[in-house]
Amino acid sequence: MSAQPSVYRRYLTKSLLNKSLLPNRPLKVALLGASGAVGKELIHLLEERAFPVSELRLLASHRSAGSSHPWKGSTLKVQEVSAEAFKNIDIVLASAGGSVSRHWRKAINDAGALMIDNSSAFRMDIDVPLIVPEVNPEAAFVHQGLIANPNCTTILLAVVLAPLAKRTPIKRVIVSTYQSASGAGARAMEELQILSQEVLNGGNPVSHVLPYSLAFNLFLHNSPLQENSYCEEEMKMVNETRKIMGLPDLRFSATCVRVPVLRAHSEAVNIEFKEPFSVQEANQILSSSPGVELIEDYQTNRFPMPIDVTGKDHVAVGRVRQDISDKNSLELWLCGDQIRKGAALNAIQIAELLISKP
Ligand code: NAP
Repeated sequence: MSAQPSVYRRYLTKSLLNKSLLPNRPLKVALLGASGAVGKELIHLLEERAFPVSELRLLASHRSAGSSHPWKGSTLKVQEVSAEAFKNIDIVLASAGGSVSRHWRKAINDAGALMIDNSSAFRMDIDVPLIVPEVNPEAAFVHQGLIANPNCTTILLAVVLAPLAKRTPIKRVIVSTYQSASGAGARAMEELQILSQEVLNGGNPVSHVLPYSLAFNLFLHNSPLQENSYCEEEMKMVNETRKIMGLPDLRFSATCVRVPVLRAHSEAVNIEFKEPFSVQEANQILSSSPGVELIEDYQTNRFPMPIDVTGKDHVAVGRVRQDISDKNSLELWLCGDQIRKGAALNAIQIAELLISKP
């Protein structure tokens, strides 16, 4: 599951592989949704990771057209998106929401560019790979011009489940999430700060971005409720985890909650395995797994917290313990920066996988 991509490349015919790879030269990159929470992180990470960029085009709506963003010691201006803007582009990293992605997909592919999409628009389409590079890198090489980035909570969870599932099959997962304001975008982050100040000043704030004020409050995830009474975010976790891990029958139940944390999501996870799994072995596996950091300090009762992972690449895991109600199950707690690993970083890691090696 987490073998090196080069192993998988060997199984693809040369012509298929050539079609799926990005050229090994500095690339022309467009960011669709460049002014948003994920878009700004993409700009930052492209520079931080020294991604080979020969030209960067920042695209968004007319609302932010003309705004400037720092890029390699200078500034770049955001342009309003148009079909023309994708001409001669090699790769588009899209983070402008599902309807915008659906609208521009054809123009992007017609221009010959690969689209890596952060929205949920295409994630469950059968011909669209849904990739977490630490988990299913092989699937990235069989695309038709579009690769989907999973939901943020799903990415964080999959990075932790996958190495454990390699040791013993997973039968069932039950997860409760504690999702920060940033998961709802840049405006929700700003609003949490403003409304928190209003509460401290004795006011009774009203939210205009989220359905309720998140200041000193929490509420069940605000995505639409489905017929089965789960919300869309919860069902995304169920369906996307099954697709990424190649486990269509995995028993999975989620409860997603929005909490007044500015940035980085947390998850309380119960995992039932096919057979008993010792805490010691789980800790050994997790501490050597890519993208995971084990934080266990029982002396000071310090375990992962959102502030520890803010701006970090890894998913922090801790409090791995035997479920006292079931000998085959483990409980654990994880935190991850969902704008970074849950969105922007994961998208760039996918692109890095696809750059052809000499
Ligand atoms: P955001 O902060 O609200 O940013 C949205 C971006 O989309 C802005 O750049 C906005 O441009 C642009 N946009 C909106 N409508 C547009 C249109 N009609 N044409 C062109 N650009 C348009 O949202 P976000 O949090 O970055 O999320 C973006 C996407 O990533 C969503 O699909 C979200 O579900 C997904 N995602 C987010 C996270 C997260 O943690 N935030 C994690 C994983 C996935 P203007 O400034 O011009 O309005």
